[in-house]
Amino acid sequence: MKVGFIGLGHMGHPMAARLLGAGHRVTVYNRSPGRGADLVAAGAIPAPTPAAAARDAEAVFTMLADDAAVEAVMPGADGLLAGLAAGAIHLSSSTISVALAERLETVHRDAGSVLVSAPVFGRPDAAAAGRLFVVTGGPGPALAHCRPLFEAVGQHTFTVSGQPAAANLVKLTGNFLIAATIESLGEAFALVRKAGVDPGDFLEVLTGTLFTAPVHRTYGTLIAEDRFSPAGFPMGLGLKDVKLVLAAAEAARVPLPMASLIRDQLLSGLARGHGDLDWAALGLIAAGNAGLGTGRSE
Ligand code: NAP
Repeated sequence: MKVGFIGLGHMGHPMAARLLGAGHRVTVYNRSPGRGADLVAAGAIPAPTPAAAARDAEAVFTMLADDAAVEAVMPGADGLLAGLAAGAIHLSSSTISVALAERLETVHRDAGSVLVSAPVFGRPDAAAAGRLFVVTGGPGPALAHCRPLFEAVGQHTFTVSGQPAAANLVKLTGNFLIAATIESLGEAFALVRKAGVDPGDFLEVLTGTLFTAPVHRTYGTLIAEDRFSPAGFPMGLGLKDVKLVLAAAEAARVPLPMASLIRDQLLSGLARGHGDLDWAALGLIAAGNAGLGTGRSE
């Protein structure tokens, strides 16, 4: 399939590589040039603008940092919208707000193109291995057409709704649960550490009993080992997502007191200069609040 790919960051780069490896013709664009040089060496076609990445493509992924980044690549003669052919599909994989997904759906409908939301669960290592979980929302025929693309980047594709924005809500809600798990793991590790229990032993008890999900194993290990850098998913992006879930919840008149607390914990992390650490560093905040040194200067 002819595919465009916009955004070659920690997630987008390995996803584009998977698409290439699966035999698709991939045209790549990144705001800062040079990031996709190895992809081009492997056969990807470089595009100077988002419009050029979209031209001739049946489907174009965006895997960009946030709402502002997606809004930056859409408009104008060089923008994604101008490059998309009638009936072509915008596969929006970035974790963006429900409100922006709703706006994008209207913009595409008016322009004769189609929005599919396809946010993902999984970190850069899962993206490189084609082991992401893809959560999709959009019109059935477009979802069916793009299935080979989802299969190239992910181990499983979920379809949650004909409405694209519903997939974004599911993704944000899932990230809220991940953050709540990290926060509670961080508090639990702080407590046992202060009592002198070895964090590795505690991790073994947790993951050998009732807390066996990937989220416990992944983040429990990072917290037990004080391993917050390099970040798979930095605190700054975590704060973005928790704010987005709070905005969606406020619009729906659903209180999320735990999300409010986690927002403040992440903010505290940023205030201490930890914005580039993995959001597992919520455990560092919990340790600091308990008066624990962790070998890292606070
Ligand atoms: P990243 O490494 O920071 O990459 C961000 C990408 O967005 C880069 O290509 C960057 O271009 C581009 N960008 C940022 N602002 C832009 C702007 N104003 N105009 C055009 N391009 C812009 O982020 P990531 O980790 O790949 O995450 C991408 C998305 O996936 C985010 O929405 C994130 O929440 C979501 N996500 C991340 C993970 C994870 O574990 N990392 C997991 C699941 C979902 P430059 O190279 O020019 O800066």
